[in-house]
Amino acid sequence: MSCLLKNFDAVTQDLTRVCQECGRSPDSLRLLAVSKTFPAQDVEELYQGRHHLAFGENRVQELKEKAPRLPQELQWHLIGHLQANKVRTALAYAQWIHGVDTAALFWRIQEIAAQLQATPRLLLEVNVSGEESKFGFTPEAALALARDIASRPLSAPLAGLMTMAPFQAPPETLKQVFGGLRQLRDQLEQIRGEALPELSMGMSGDYPEAIRQGATIVRIGTAIFGHR
Ligand SMILES: *Cc1c(COP(=O)(O)O)cnc(C)c1O
Repeated sequence: MSCLLKNFDAVTQDLTRVCQECGRSPDSLRLLAVSKTFPAQDVEELYQGRHHLAFGENRVQELKEKAPRLPQELQWHLIGHLQANKVRTALAYAQWIHGVDTAALFWRIQEIAAQLQATPRLLLEVNVSGEESKFGFTPEAALALARDIASRPLSAPLAGLMTMAPFQAPPETLKQVFGGLRQLRDQLEQIRGEALPELSMGMSGDYPEAIRQGATIVRIGTAIFGHR
């Protein structure tokens, strides 16, 4: 068996183990295989070998090069920062956008999605840890956007929230960041009056704590594809 398939199996087994340890059904968690910087053949191999469908890219240009060469059935998630002038291209290929990090970008995506009659699912990126180097809404700004949306109809539905923990953060910090995202999601649901089911949190180095705090999507690159 190839190294890639072995890694993939080890990750899926570990996700199942962590889910079971904290009393969650493994079906309540989606694995996003983050294929950025890796060739389309690697994606093809996971598709052929394990029928894995959900892949994440962080650059629109790379997504645009990879997606057309791969099966239509795949689901692409754009997980990186998205510039306003690339929204149209992003929506041509991605069914999910995890990096919606400003209200302006949120409304820009609504406008273009309406024009294209696309219905991408959106996740607001929240900078829970408050690190200056990170993109994302402050929790207050995310709450303010939820109030602005009120009952306006959306072309691109708001599916939930996404965050990144500080690199190599200690367990206590991970708990605060991931638990904080979940609490914020609960507050947003109250304001919106509708479910925001998705919590995209957890990467190769920190997914167990994210799962314990309620992640519904983990974004895993290195542990599957190797070092970039
Ligand atoms: C690259 C990336 C990941 C995957 O990180 P790994 O540590 O390789 O698992 C997850 N989320 C985002 C936003 C990324 O850019």
